[in-house]
Amino acid sequence: MRRRLWQQVADAVEQYHADMPGLSVAPQSGVDEVRARLDRFDPSAPLDPESAIRLVVEGLRSDQLHAAHPGYFGLFVPAPSAIGILADALAAGFNPQLASWGHAPFAVEAEQWVLRTLATRLGYPSPRIEGTLTSGGSEANLTGLMAALYHTWPSARESGVSILPGTPTLYLSEEAHDSWRKAARMAGLGDRALRIVPCDRQTRMDVVALSRLLAADRRQGLLPFLIVGTVGATASGGVDPLPALSALARREGVWLHADAAWGGAAALSPRHAAAVEGLDGADSMTLDPHKWLNVPMGAGVYLSRRPGGLRRVFHTVPRYLPASPAGAPIAEPYQESPQWSRRFSGLKILLTLVTAGWEGVAGAIDRAFDLAATLRAALPPRGWIICNHTPLPVICFQDASRPGDLRHHERLVAGVIQRGRSWVSLALVGGSEPAIRACMTNYRTTEQHLSVLLEDLEIARTAGGGMPG
Ligand SMILES: *Cc1c(COP(=O)(O)O)cnc(C)c1O
Repeated sequence: MRRRLWQQVADAVEQYHADMPGLSVAPQSGVDEVRARLDRFDPSAPLDPESAIRLVVEGLRSDQLHAAHPGYFGLFVPAPSAIGILADALAAGFNPQLASWGHAPFAVEAEQWVLRTLATRLGYPSPRIEGTLTSGGSEANLTGLMAALYHTWPSARESGVSILPGTPTLYLSEEAHDSWRKAARMAGLGDRALRIVPCDRQTRMDVVALSRLLAADRRQGLLPFLIVGTVGATASGGVDPLPALSALARREGVWLHADAAWGGAAALSPRHAAAVEGLDGADSMTLDPHKWLNVPMGAGVYLSRRPGGLRRVFHTVPRYLPASPAGAPIAEPYQESPQWSRRFSGLKILLTLVTAGWEGVAGAIDRAFDLAATLRAALPPRGWIICNHTPLPVICFQDASRPGDLRHHERLVAGVIQRGRSWVSLALVGGSEPAIRACMTNYRTTEQHLSVLLEDLEIARTAGGGMPG
């Protein structure tokens, strides 16, 4: 029976991925239809597992944005590789408890291996590093904020930040990710702790403006403790100037965290590492393997070159856990993470690294850069203006005949999506300039899918041309 169910699940996943190119990238499910599917579920009348799984598979196939489609040029959701999917099944099947070394020596050491291996490749001075696997970039960013906060004011760990003689403040660009707002709120600092720095015309943090703001804030009695360098801004792909930021952070005595959730992967490609130069100079960083390393969702990484920061925030000794084994120093994940019980999310990263190898990993990254170069070259001759400047493979562009027209670009995006062959989104570059955003996320995307996108853009523009703006 169990074997048959495994077979059913494996077949459903294989079939889904095999059918992917022919599916409409964004199905138009209405909320009523989706809820109607769930009306068939009733715990008072249990279903046999086969039927229950079949209903779930039907729902997932029909009612989701197929981000693994080669025509998805979207928000960093990659196609999960087969090895990543299998790794998640293994993690569930063996279900190691990643809270403590004693419960899962192999899994804990395997995650430490992942952290050291990535850190070394990214230029951190392994083994003088520490890190933790996270649910994603948001948790890694929160971890960085907390590490910086208690590094700066160790006594706040016991007394809380209310004993400080001012508001702890952090500095990030206007293009930075909104998870920092959540992190500031969860840390009890509040929205006002976020100091937003303007960007230059390449959507990179303006370092002169940052340095002026820091000085003015200090005069006002605010307490700067953290600069966030964004490496691959979500909308525009902007990369903050990390070498200048780390020099300034050192002079100011504040922590530098590189939010390299998506863009950091470029450092794993020898051809493109220069695009994210200076990543290794940050005190800590966020990297999301579930973005550009093609593993299924639920895999983020926090890394730091300042060992001790994690334990300062998360260390605690409960009464009910067996003592750590004596001997070589070991990682106790529950003492180094906001999570306690935790799944083996490092396994899908480990199996990806050891089967693809550095060459395979870099190959997928390089492909995205090559595709972006092709699209960047193809757009201007067809009457599109490229309006972002980034070395990373995300392109924002406007219709040259109606630049600045928000409604027009909304209609173009909707028109492309409606045809079902490609998915792009609308972005406001620099906070105000409406643009169509296409990001290379899928290692199965080819030049042919770029041609389809260009064709559907043209159709949308022609169809919308006569409409009043
Ligand atoms: C995606 C992203 C995040 C949030 O990461 P999640 O994995 O979605 O929690 C934070 N910062 C940047 C720059 C990102 O690209």
